[in-house]
Amino acid sequence: MQKFPEGSEAADIVANLDQVRERIAAACARVGRCASEVRFLLVTKTIAPDQIRIAVEAGAELIGENKVQELVAKAEALRDLTCERHFIGHLQSNKIKQVLQHVSCIQSIDSLGLAEKLDRQLQKHGRGVDIFLQVNTSGEATKFGIAPGEALGLARQVARLGTLRVRGMMTIGMFNADGQITRRCFAQLRALRDLITAEGLAGVQLDHLSMGMSLDFEDAIAEGSTLIRVGRFVFGPRPSMIHHYWNETDSGA
Ligand SMILES: *Cc1c(COP(=O)(O)O)cnc(C)c1O
Repeated sequence: MQKFPEGSEAADIVANLDQVRERIAAACARVGRCASEVRFLLVTKTIAPDQIRIAVEAGAELIGENKVQELVAKAEALRDLTCERHFIGHLQSNKIKQVLQHVSCIQSIDSLGLAEKLDRQLQKHGRGVDIFLQVNTSGEATKFGIAPGEALGLARQVARLGTLRVRGMMTIGMFNADGQITRRCFAQLRALRDLITAEGLAGVQLDHLSMGMSLDFEDAIAEGSTLIRVGRFVFGPRPSMIHHYWNETDSGA
């Protein structure tokens, strides 16, 4: 691995990545889990390709974007990187074609309509894709995701769509809440995973619980997360956090 000058932005990124790994291992150890059970997705939204490259070359194996526009804009500059790519943001149906060119998994499926459109597009190309069902466990109106009470119904319907391999569930914990409340969001996602798994639906194999971000990934690990999504912890604060969390305007602006 390349050595960067101490105190440089690049050296910070590499050091922060190491720190995330250490904290994952410590969080796992505290609850008797094996660190290899938890994957780490590096959230690269708002981050320039040069920085992303540094992180990937320092060992980040899985990266994610939450806007199709941004995913596409960076794709060319990062084309040679062999890391896995997921989409983690609200997906508008007119961007399905584009997103499919760049990712192996879409973590944010939250309606039957979207799933059906995705399925139709995939059929045309004779291929499939991994998806996660996104659940709005915090109940905050600003967040996307299916309501918890509708998740099982959605799983049953999506299971019938032949091109979609349902591989996990995703949620965003409640912000600015005390740890107990955030943990309840994560526990709820785990319970829903168990409920859906018990149905034994063909084509549904929920290996992943995608939950936990920079400020709450240790709580998420305690509640069974198998995939944490971390951005700020590695890259530092983003210029306009709220906008990028909620995907408020996915107009392409
Ligand atoms: C931005 C984002 C994250 C990462 O948030 P950080 O606070 O930067 O770790 C995780 N998941 C989704 C869906 C996001 O949009």
